[in-house]
Amino acid sequence: MPEVYNWQLGRNMSYPYQAASPELQWAFVFNINRCIACQTCTFACKATWTFSKGQEYMWWNNVETKPYGGYPRFWDIKLLEILDKAHTSAGKDASWDTSQRNGTERPYGTYQGLTVFEGAQAEATPTEVALGYEPTDDEWAAPNLYEDTATGLTSKEGDTSLESTGLPEHKSWFFYLQRVCNHCSYPACLASCPRQAIYKRPQDGIVLIDQERCRGYRKCVSACPYKKTMYRPTTRVTEKCVACYPRIEGKDPLALGQPLETRCMAVCPSKIRIQGLVKKNPDGSWAEDRYNPIYFLVKVAKVALPLYPQFGTEPNGYYIPPRWAPKPYLRQMFGPGVDAAIERYIAPDRELLAVQQLFRATQQIIFRYEIIEGPKVFEAVVNGKNWEMFNDTVVGYGKDDQELVRLQVNEVQYTRPAERPNSI
Ligand code: SF4
Ligand code: SF4
Repeated sequence: MPEVYNWQLGRNMSYPYQAASPELQWAFVFNINRCIACQTCTFACKATWTFSKGQEYMWWNNVETKPYGGYPRFWDIKLLEILDKAHTSAGKDASWDTSQRNGTERPYGTYQGLTVFEGAQAEATPTEVALGYEPTDDEWAAPNLYEDTATGLTSKEGDTSLESTGLPEHKSWFFYLQRVCNHCSYPACLASCPRQAIYKRPQDGIVLIDQERCRGYRKCVSACPYKKTMYRPTTRVTEKCVACYPRIEGKDPLALGQPLETRCMAVCPSKIRIQGLVKKNPDGSWAEDRYNPIYFLVKVAKVALPLYPQFGTEPNGYYIPPRWAPKPYLRQMFGPGVDAAIERYIAPDRELLAVQQLFRATQQIIFRYEIIEGPKVFEAVVNGKNWEMFNDTVVGYGKDDQELVRLQVNEVQYTRPAERPNSI
């Protein structure tokens, strides 16, 4: 089986498919801390792509409440259990060696366990290219069960107390997890397809299913650890998120030839989402692009982390973890970068604060930003350390380096005149 370098795992791994790395990779950052589960993203996607017969149960974008919610139901718990069994059978340890952390090359250290590909190979008689399962109709039927259901679980083995969540005044917790296809660098869906119907586009890394070649064998449904390919019974082929590729290509009538963010990104009223295109090297690693907002958030600030990196597909979706949920729960979900990411997010430096203003500031994809320094406007003590805020200005530039947005960190406030309190 060919070896590829997975930078999220900090090591080479076996991947049952040899493919060239794309020049640019579609990627996104979601800030979980800001999501209100309004489902505007979910319905923007549904109304654009999956409103036809046979697509009733398809939610390419979904927002689920953790720890109990999931679409399909319990998808991640099931995958983690399958992976656990593989580790037990192989006598392997699933931990991370964080002493191997090394700048941008191995930001989380080295994963010592098995990926879904390696777990499948470790079986006595390997039959599949990736560990997985095909969800039942029942598991796909109710996309939003357990919405807003809180828990007191601390995720510490044997500990059922309610004492160790992040906010002592609220001893139970939940958070929203926004999910779309990750257009993975090493997609399990693509590797598992016996018809080679799935391909990754060289220009932007978007993963698509050729509807003419697909025969509906559903190997991809079983293999995708994130369960983001979905079978359509009316056409008997499988479909998935297409990353709104006409918008990325600038073909949306609104785009005027410039790359636009996907529909789910562009509608988010809470501004939790930013999407972009990152530059890749031929070996699959990210080329340095210091002032690309996605590169900064993932590789420099390291505040945005991959979802279940241990699965091994190198997903291109990154999450700023919620600051209030128990750390053990978050570490198994986002890897060992959680503690540093939350610490940095709670007391952001002036660059991180400025880049956060760019989330949902424009529908056009921001390729580069620049910060113009402004005066200090606030200071406080956060977690026992002095913290200062500056009214810097951040400027976002598009594909052809044209200015798209210009925003100040200190947001404009309007005060209503006393005689007209209900208007501005
Ligand atoms: S639109 Fe934004 S705030 Fe609303 S559910 Fe989606 S990600 Fe969350
Ligand atoms: S998330 Fe699943 S469907 Fe999407 S590219 Fe990765 S493996 Fe394929």
